[in-house]
Amino acid sequence: MPSIEDLEKKALRYTGKAKSLYDSTHPDYLIMEFRDDTSAFDGIKKEKIAHKGMVNNRFNAFIMEKLEAAGIKTQFVRLFSETESVVKHLEMIPVESVVRNIAAGHLCKRLGVEEGRPLDPPTHEFFLKNDEYHDPMINDSLIRTFNWATDAEIITMKAQSFQVNEVLKDLFSAAELLLVDFKLEFGRLNGEIVLGDEFSPDGCRIWDAKTLRKLDKDRFRKDLGGVLEAYEEVSFRLGVPLPSS
Ligand code: UDP
Repeated sequence: MPSIEDLEKKALRYTGKAKSLYDSTHPDYLIMEFRDDTSAFDGIKKEKIAHKGMVNNRFNAFIMEKLEAAGIKTQFVRLFSETESVVKHLEMIPVESVVRNIAAGHLCKRLGVEEGRPLDPPTHEFFLKNDEYHDPMINDSLIRTFNWATDAEIITMKAQSFQVNEVLKDLFSAAELLLVDFKLEFGRLNGEIVLGDEFSPDGCRIWDAKTLRKLDKDRFRKDLGGVLEAYEEVSFRLGVPLPSS
């Protein structure tokens, strides 16, 4: 068995809308590739944004290391290349876990709440990961009935989502940024719940704390322009090391 340092990339295992997963020469590890592809509205709007894969790869590594340091187990192992990271091989749970600090996006549409309204305490929602059915909102009871996760796993996913929020809210706030909301995905490894997937501006909302300028994928969704520049600005302010261009 090769050591984690000597891993090589093998066959493509899965292609998502913005990332691809490859087998590696070690069965316990995969290679996660962050592509420049950007999509919204269940993949209806699509574009390639040059360098986004590289920025998201570094951004994700930075955030996952902060979360690990705070005691949260994550899938991330190490950077592998400019656009790729070595990750642990998890059995993914097909559920999205969303935490919100400020009303935006779907919540406003669904409840008629004004965008920007502070949510105190922060809210939590589960969605089913299913593009065909537009990622419908689900609850603990549905997760149990359809056996997507156990009661204990549901409790852990929710608790860890709020814990991630506490760690990241402070990190972002120190950079004069508001962490509006974010989506997490979890998986199983040796009977334990582990934070999987990614954390990047593709899957969260970040606003400038003073001007409320959007610095996340809403710039792409709403055709606001300057998508990469916003991702780079957030990275710079948080201290994510990006190669100087
Ligand atoms: N989100 C995501 N993938 C999804 C759905 C949502 O990463 O398939 C993120 C989204 O970027 C936002 C948060 O989860 O940061 C809450 O999204 P919301 O439910 O408001 O849906 P949206 O309006 O983004 O479709």
